[in-house]
Amino acid sequence: MQKNSDLLKKIPQVDKLIQFNAHICSEIYRHELTDAVRDVLGELREQIVNGIIDHVPDDDTLINRAVELAEKRLRNNKDVRRVINGTGVILHSNLGRACLSKAAAAAVVETASSYCTLEYDIDEGKRGNRAGGVERYLRDITGCEASLVVNNNAAAVLLILSAVANDGNVLVSRGELVEIGGGFRVPDIISLGGSTLCEVGTTNKTRLSDYKAAISKDTRAILKVHSSNFKVVGFTESVNVKELAVLGKSHGIPVIEDIGSGALTDVRRYGLNEEPLVKESLRDGADIVSFSGDKLLGGLQCGIILGRKEFIETIKKHPLYRAFRVDKITIAALEATLRIYADPVKAERDIPVLSMLALTAEDLCIRAEKLCKEICLKGGNAEVLKVKSVAGGGAVPGLELDSYAITPVGSGSAGEGSAGVYEQKLRALPVPIIGRIENDRLLIDVRTMFEDDFEYIINEIVKVTTSSEE
Ligand SMILES: *Cc1c(COP(=O)(O)O)cnc(C)c1O
Repeated sequence: MQKNSDLLKKIPQVDKLIQFNAHICSEIYRHELTDAVRDVLGELREQIVNGIIDHVPDDDTLINRAVELAEKRLRNNKDVRRVINGTGVILHSNLGRACLSKAAAAAVVETASSYCTLEYDIDEGKRGNRAGGVERYLRDITGCEASLVVNNNAAAVLLILSAVANDGNVLVSRGELVEIGGGFRVPDIISLGGSTLCEVGTTNKTRLSDYKAAISKDTRAILKVHSSNFKVVGFTESVNVKELAVLGKSHGIPVIEDIGSGALTDVRRYGLNEEPLVKESLRDGADIVSFSGDKLLGGLQCGIILGRKEFIETIKKHPLYRAFRVDKITIAALEATLRIYADPVKAERDIPVLSMLALTAEDLCIRAEKLCKEICLKGGNAEVLKVKSVAGGGAVPGLELDSYAITPVGSGSAGEGSAGVYEQKLRALPVPIIGRIENDRLLIDVRTMFEDDFEYIINEIVKVTTSSEE
């Protein structure tokens, strides 16, 4: 055995080790690699001093160890990074809701890294209309007179109420005084907007006569809120927008509808039977409609307000609009997404939210079996299970879509509790695969996966089901 002091002398210098291996990992910044190398060599020194090891590993081994450490640190920094959604929840708020189409993503990249015509009219060579393209597309798709875009739907509702109903009463059915995830509570938004909530009807039943009786000279608006994330079953009654619009018109009171997820196409053909459509809300007579841009529409986070021109103009002039307006990236993504909607076939093919909804149980069964077969061919083990997936994101409470999942199955040693081990291992990957555990099995729903990720998913499931330390 060599003497400790001789061994210590063999430890390479930090700078030299990095200099000769700087090419090894382009993802890691030099300072991150330097920190990692220093720590790896420090640990080595300690092990030598304590007599735990009797040799100095070669440079390659050491640098690889450092890269691994740096990568692990990067992952543990909790930075936002890509994951594979195996939850089956298409609009998962924790996983960033909608994924953009390829065209919208390309528009984001181009606009983000360059100057653009955000408020510039190329033909005239002077200042132009912000989001003019978005307005044009929304008019074509929904038939609205005018529109504007803000940060999210919560901001949209607050802005609408602040601009239209300030200092007066807003009528809302008791059954629609909801809280949407993340603390968006309708009563709070109303008081924040400077108006007074006037509750109408009861939790389960509200009739047109209730609204009529509640109207006073102080009534500034009737607000209808889609109860996105819950459902009242049993004896229920509510008043539809059509009836409210007639009532509103006869009293000169605008009807506002927060429809939540903002379906631009008929998503009912995918089984989302009770989902309000933007077009229908307008056609039924709502004066102002608001919804999210990153739910069923399939764009980036934003809130869209559209409807009658006189109200949109009033809203646009409110100072809060300036505080809530969106950036060039959101506008670029929205414009590129809306452009696709002109062609329904293209929309279903290219907008991931729609293509995931459009997948039939049969499509999904074939997909799951194909993945499973590949996993088994490569020496791993998995099974196909029939499951239910949900649209999520506040769209369609209680509605479940038939889907299929693959579930990793261990070889031999894996028994009770292995679902938890698989879940943890797959979640700890460089690109984590997020599934859900049900009845002690890890389910990886195939509805919310992208085909580009299939190979990665197959390989990683093979690894976890063949690894010996389950
Ligand atoms: C989701 C939702 C909101 C909140 O929208 P964000 O875009 O997340 O701010 C508000 N109202 C309804 C009915 C919703 O479904």
